[in-house]
Amino acid sequence: MREPDFSDVFQQLALHGRERAGLHTWLAKLPEQLAEGLDAKRFPEFVGWWKRIEKLPEVVSADLDINASAVTAENAYLADNQPLSDSQKRMIAGLLQDLKPWRKGPYQLQGTYIDTEWRSDFKWDRLAPHLSNLRGRKVLDVGGGSGYHAWRIAGAGAEFTLCIDPSPRYFAQFEAVRKLMGPKNRATVYHLPLGIEAVPVGIEAFDTVLSMGVLYHRRSPIDHLYELKDCLRSGGELVLETLVIEGDATACLIPEDRYAAMSNVWFLPSVTQLELWLKRCGFTNIRCVDLNQTSVKEQRATNWMTFMSLSDFLDPNDSNLTREGYPAPLRAILIAEKV
Ligand code: SAH
Repeated sequence: MREPDFSDVFQQLALHGRERAGLHTWLAKLPEQLAEGLDAKRFPEFVGWWKRIEKLPEVVSADLDINASAVTAENAYLADNQPLSDSQKRMIAGLLQDLKPWRKGPYQLQGTYIDTEWRSDFKWDRLAPHLSNLRGRKVLDVGGGSGYHAWRIAGAGAEFTLCIDPSPRYFAQFEAVRKLMGPKNRATVYHLPLGIEAVPVGIEAFDTVLSMGVLYHRRSPIDHLYELKDCLRSGGELVLETLVIEGDATACLIPEDRYAAMSNVWFLPSVTQLELWLKRCGFTNIRCVDLNQTSVKEQRATNWMTFMSLSDFLDPNDSNLTREGYPAPLRAILIAEKV
């Protein structure tokens, strides 16, 4: 098996590190962090996923659309100047199926529509109108899953987009998408199979940092906000998307055990309490730009994620409650600035 090749992202970090020294510091630590991030002893399944990536055809060119609701790569040509045959397209569909469950998307890849559990484009559409112009920015998407939003960020003009996520499955999914796009796009979007803990303290390298769907999984949410702040250059923009509850500045829900069937949910503050957290951490210009109760149109089981999904996690008699009796998932997007 050939190892995943990170030379492109290393080059990018070296390049941008001339201007943002923290990226250089990280570069020096990366080989060791990545070996650990994909360690076959910790993640034995990764070997099988990676074999699937290797079997995907080497695409030389493709028609791309990263501004569409489904991130798209179609009409591929191979090195022999031939388009993909029907049997190659069927093989691609099978290899992509082997990387299930696909949670974040959708993608349209060489004849296969990946109908992911989440319509991540809905979240993007709620967020995009409120983002500072991304043109020329260096962006970090923390907990970015398979990289769906990273492609959309690149589509909105970011100069360099890095998605980090500690799940090797999502890294494999990202690499599958990237390979089917062909080399033309390997220019601006990168993925590292790492958690935020891997980002060196004091990096202060990114113009925009996103943390979406991560905060409520953290046992120390305030520390997470400080970590995110540390990733930003002075004047940079934080995008924080998380589960919230209704209520005043004193309200915060800590589920007794599970929340919407998830075992790892810790703090669900009200929007005003969350604004206070951000203020206490030293952010300014804090505003809530969107509040949305998650619908079963946005999160549902599909052929690409066949396990239980939102409709199974809600009270069958009252869709405004989870099956544990808590308020149903309500998500807020907050934007704030680092002084
Ligand atoms: N940002 C995406 C995905 C959210 S799901 C979206 O909004 O749709 C939460 C993600 O956080 C998962 O993919 C999970 O693997 C990742 N995650 C878990 N622990 C993390 C950590 N320590 N650092 C960064 N990401 C983490």
